[in-house]
Amino acid sequence: MADRTQRRSLLLRLAVRLLARDRGEVRALSDLMKLRGPLQFVGIFAFTIIAPGIILAYFGWASIRSEELSVRAEALTNADATADVLAAQVEGLFTTFEGSVRGRLERGQSPMERLPELSPALLVAFRLDGAGNLAAPFAPPVTRPIMDQSFFLASPWRDAELAEQSGGDPARAAGLYAEAADQARGITALGQAAFARGRALMKAGETDEAKAVFADVVANFGSVRDVHGFRLGDLARLKRGEILLGEEPTIGSAALQDLVNEILSTRLWVIGDRAEWAPANRALELLEDVAPKDWLASTRGRLEEKSSQAFWAEQLVDDLSTLTPGGASIGVSPGDFSYRRLGDTLWASAWWGNDFYTFALDIDALMTRLDKFVEQAESSETTLRVTLLTAQDVPPADALSRRNLSPWLTGWSLAVAPRDADALAALQDRKRTQRLAVIGLSVFMITTGAFLASWLVSRELDVARMKADFAANVSHELRSPITQIRLKGESLMLGLVFDDEGRAQHYEAIVRESERLSRLVDNVLDFAAIERGAKKYTFRPVDIGETVQSAVDAARYSMEARDLTIDLELSDDLPVVFHDPEAVSQVLHNLISNAAKYGKEGGWIGVAGSMSTDGVEIHISDRGIGISEEDLPRIFEEYYRSSDPQARRRKGTGIGLTIVRYIMEAHGGRVDVQSQVGQGTTFTLHFTLKPPEQPGL
Ligand code: ADP
Repeated sequence: MADRTQRRSLLLRLAVRLLARDRGEVRALSDLMKLRGPLQFVGIFAFTIIAPGIILAYFGWASIRSEELSVRAEALTNADATADVLAAQVEGLFTTFEGSVRGRLERGQSPMERLPELSPALLVAFRLDGAGNLAAPFAPPVTRPIMDQSFFLASPWRDAELAEQSGGDPARAAGLYAEAADQARGITALGQAAFARGRALMKAGETDEAKAVFADVVANFGSVRDVHGFRLGDLARLKRGEILLGEEPTIGSAALQDLVNEILSTRLWVIGDRAEWAPANRALELLEDVAPKDWLASTRGRLEEKSSQAFWAEQLVDDLSTLTPGGASIGVSPGDFSYRRLGDTLWASAWWGNDFYTFALDIDALMTRLDKFVEQAESSETTLRVTLLTAQDVPPADALSRRNLSPWLTGWSLAVAPRDADALAALQDRKRTQRLAVIGLSVFMITTGAFLASWLVSRELDVARMKADFAANVSHELRSPITQIRLKGESLMLGLVFDDEGRAQHYEAIVRESERLSRLVDNVLDFAAIERGAKKYTFRPVDIGETVQSAVDAARYSMEARDLTIDLELSDDLPVVFHDPEAVSQVLHNLISNAAKYGKEGGWIGVAGSMSTDGVEIHISDRGIGISEEDLPRIFEEYYRSSDPQARRRKGTGIGLTIVRYIMEAHGGRVDVQSQVGQGTTFTLHFTLKPPEQPGL
């Protein structure tokens, strides 16, 4: 404690010395003391408003940041979960396949049979035995469409077939096939009906219509297979080519050559399957006399070659050489698969005993499966978008999560990104705005609260100060008449006043001062009664002019003694007004003595009474110091005294005008003030002619 005091006084001394340089220590100290108040205020302000504001702003900022991060983290978690599910599904696809192959090998069964059971994407399988011989390529059975047999056995299909046969009516058949198409359900039946109708139309000679129907079949049912496993697209192109050959041989020939070339060059043949070979062979038959001889010869050769097993063995030697033992991609343990992508095929290879197996999986079919997984994942997670990427694709810039599809699809990956790139930002924005609004509101409320609290405190302090001043002022006000009375009384008692005139003056002074005293006491007591709510008035119908007259007369003597002129001007028509004459006299006394007190030396006071639109007005005017604009709204407040030094020099208690206002309101009237600093002040009392609401109170 002593330390602190010492330190403080040291600081103070230092400050005083610095400030004292050219003004002296006393001035410096008083300046410092003057600074104390504002410094304290700044301290409190910083403590109650700035510091909590900074803390709140900091926490607000931190919470906005964390909210943003959590929105992003949530999106990331979702994306990760989706990516995990998809990656697991892809893995499942391959592990199921591998598991089935291994299962068969372990049970001593051949993995080269019933290939679609191993994987729907499986195209073909090979085995290289220990001696290095390539086992015959295995032809998986073509998946034949499952058809609704009852559709083909019943009318109209059955009738159409009969009508189409020789001796029937192909035009009728075409109509019946159209009817069948209407009833068909499923793409296979629909495609078949459309193709059969084209065929019937062709037989009926409606070639234009037939061509249109075939074109439609190619476009809509191109890859649908018929009961024999043929592609409807191939059949329709054959028939259309046949018609065109009859009409415009060059166009027809070109169309058929296109078909043959496509079958030979771009299709992946399933060995031993006639479904690819037969349409090509039929096209070559049709082209027999139309196409160039050497093209025909070489193409026929290619067709035979491709349909022979030897061709396949040769074709695959290259591919297989990259997959066979010694290739880097072979799994180390028996049954371990390694994957390699060549063109549209994914080769899955594994050792088992002395045999080397390799399986060709159709990438397109795999992709279709993956797409289906993605579709499912997206439908359950609507805010995310999944993209399948090959090694060449550029991953989306806003990808939240990625999964490698190695080792199966090396270089492939899937990326999960927000469906709507702006949605995440919009969500973050929305959350940020919400937080900002809450923080803004809190800052506003804290600030308002602090201001309100400081305003209330300063008001309470004001009132407390005014009350303290009031007690001091009342004591002061009491002292001077008491002193006067005592002085004059003692002079008389001790016979110090010899002449009659002097004695008379002393008596008068005693009476005057006693009156002043009793007025003061009246005011204080009245005020106390008003504060308690115990003040009562007796309203009587009395001529208001008389009340004013006698109040002015009572004041006149002491006014004139102080060299003040008081003018009274009353209209003749002043009516009877319900009022308490004593209370109104007190009002007038308070206002007149204020006019005298705040008037100028040897000044003038004017009292005037006249009728107004709704009653009677009494004006009490002076040409005194006036009241400043800040003070005007406050002068009727309890204990309020102006802080203006000129007004402060005059003694007072600060309750005179409060009593005036209270009495006027109790009379159902009011008091107004008009004033100009340095010019003077006029108080106006407004009385109504109606009896006050509670007469007799
Ligand atoms: P006080 O006892 O201080 O006169 P009042 O309630 O009568 O208390 O008046 C309140 C304040 O109003 C005064 O302190 C003074 O500043 C101002 N005031 C009242 N009457 C006048 C006047 N006639 N001229 C100038 N100032 C006045």
